[in-house]
Amino acid sequence: MRLDIVTIFPEYLEPLNVSLVGKARTRGQLDVRIHDLRDWAHDKHNTVDDTPYGGGPGMVMKPEPWGEALDSVIGSAEGDDRPVIVVPTPSGRPFTQQLAVELSAKPWLVFTPARYEGIDRRVIEEYGDRCDVRELSIGDYVLAGGEAPVLVMVEAIARLLPGVLGNAASHQDDSFAPGAMADLLEGPVYTKPPEWRGRGIPDVLLSGHHGKIARWRRDEAFRRTDLNRPDLIERADPAAFDKKDREI
Ligand code: SAM
Repeated sequence: MRLDIVTIFPEYLEPLNVSLVGKARTRGQLDVRIHDLRDWAHDKHNTVDDTPYGGGPGMVMKPEPWGEALDSVIGSAEGDDRPVIVVPTPSGRPFTQQLAVELSAKPWLVFTPARYEGIDRRVIEEYGDRCDVRELSIGDYVLAGGEAPVLVMVEAIARLLPGVLGNAASHQDDSFAPGAMADLLEGPVYTKPPEWRGRGIPDVLLSGHHGKIARWRRDEAFRRTDLNRPDLIERADPAAFDKKDREI
């Protein structure tokens, strides 16, 4: 998978050299290219922002540097060879695990993390006419810039790529994973020692009985989802739940 990120703070994306994403890059599973937006700002101060039309506080990112940057990154790619453009913005649709799965199947993503009050709207419209543009929010709060949201989204997407996680099955049991967990949250997890500060672990986990362990995990997932995110249960397909789930 190829990822291009256009930003005024390339150094903010240093964590993409570390851990899982860093290893995926070294192994050639991810081709990450980070671009400095100011390379496409031509005045003596490399200005990328200006005052908003209609007045009001804050500055808006100018369309010209973004246009030149995206033209240069996308190049002559046509049709299905064009990238999906991901625009982080608090006013976008929520970025979910389901979207991470969908985006992990795309060969090429371009991220446009903004600063100030965001990017001149015409840029989104211009590239929306040519490419699949997704305006995505990582949560109901406002950050100073889109770089942290890009780190969040890239990590969520990269760990789903084939061969990136040591154990390919491990994300199938994660919170929100469709299938066995039916979009529930994951329940509690334990490791050795069997007793720590007087606290033991549930007996069933030592039973060696795979069926009972799976049932316990499912019950705990249901219980935790009901407690922390009842909205997920309300939204889920009732067919994904069995009689035992409904008794909890
Ligand atoms: N005025 C904008 C609004 O209220 O929607 C907020 C702009 S914010 C200060 C600057 C940039 O940070 C945004 O353009 C976006 O790139 C990024 N950003 C901030 N919060 C975000 C979030 N929750 N999800 C995704 N991107 C976010």
